[in-house]
Amino acid sequence: MTGRLYDRGMLSQVVQLIEQKHCFMITSHIRPDGDGLGSGLALYWILKSLGKDAEVVLHDRVPPAYMVLPGSELVTVQDDLTGAYDAAFIIECSDVDRPGLPSLRNQFVINIDHHSTTEPFGDINWIDSTSAAVGEMIYNLSKALGVEVTKEIAECIYTALLTDTGSFHFSNTTERTLKIASELVRRGVEPARISQALYYSYPYSRIKLLGMVLSGIERDESGRVAWVTMDRDMMSEADASEEDADGIVNHALSVGDVEAVAFFKELSPGIYRVSLRSKGKTNVARIAETFGGGGHKNAAGCRIQGDFCDVKRQVIEALQASLGVTPVSA
Ligand code: 5GP
Ligand code: MN
Repeated sequence: MTGRLYDRGMLSQVVQLIEQKHCFMITSHIRPDGDGLGSGLALYWILKSLGKDAEVVLHDRVPPAYMVLPGSELVTVQDDLTGAYDAAFIIECSDVDRPGLPSLRNQFVINIDHHSTTEPFGDINWIDSTSAAVGEMIYNLSKALGVEVTKEIAECIYTALLTDTGSFHFSNTTERTLKIASELVRRGVEPARISQALYYSYPYSRIKLLGMVLSGIERDESGRVAWVTMDRDMMSEADASEEDADGIVNHALSVGDVEAVAFFKELSPGIYRVSLRSKGKTNVARIAETFGGGGHKNAAGCRIQGDFCDVKRQVIEALQASLGVTPVSA
């Protein structure tokens, strides 16, 4: 079966369910990002325009930068579900527990994702790894449902596309992505306004933290693998939040010779979040999976417990092995 046929089949199941049911909840992963929020809110507006009941429930608050999204003020932040729904949409999640809402296990779940590593954990699973962002899929869903793409829907989907493609820099950016983006601009999106809110409205703490983390960048002898580290002391010195660390990893990858990077973030003593990024063929999702995480070919992540030197050595050696670099010492 081709990916496309598979996707069309799944899309029609989602369309049918939306047409048949009335009361929906929408969620995404903990520490929501632009695609999870943008796609979730776009779906909210689509359901509303069909006269359905819909609610967006997240475990974590909407990061301030994303308050630009129409409907962001309507998001409910909860540790679990309290309402009754006909179905729950889980957007951009590798498993049913990733949203951090335990009662999702008892719901009729529609799993919508574009990660190839995602399990078909839902009652309906629409997974399309050819989409740059779930936002592309939600755009197709609005078309399939015959819903007009309003300015609200367009702004939410545009944000999803912009953030998941690294401002249309990453290799997931396709002709289809740009065509959809162009259509969204026609529907009222002002690209500069969204970019201003997302990339030119940072708190001072974020830039302080960026400076501290980047000043500690290291690379291996080949110069093709680099890594950066953030500990709790840096965070308190910069008066930074977890959100302030988002995106730092991409700066390390901007070095010309560097093909793969790791960003080690200390969550608490002995527990690290590792963000992996690569250019070209190096598949960091495979590496993240070996540590219990997942993601995309060029952007993935995982959580590792252990002594920092061991964690660092294991990850760097895995990156070197996938690049065919002979490890010297990390
Ligand atoms: P980031 O490094 O920005 O946190 O994540 C990059 C990509 O990897 C995202 O697509 C994200 O969904 C995925 N990812 C990050 N951490 C995990 C994880 O612990 N498990 C899984 N399955 N995916 C992850
Ligand atoms: Mn995404």
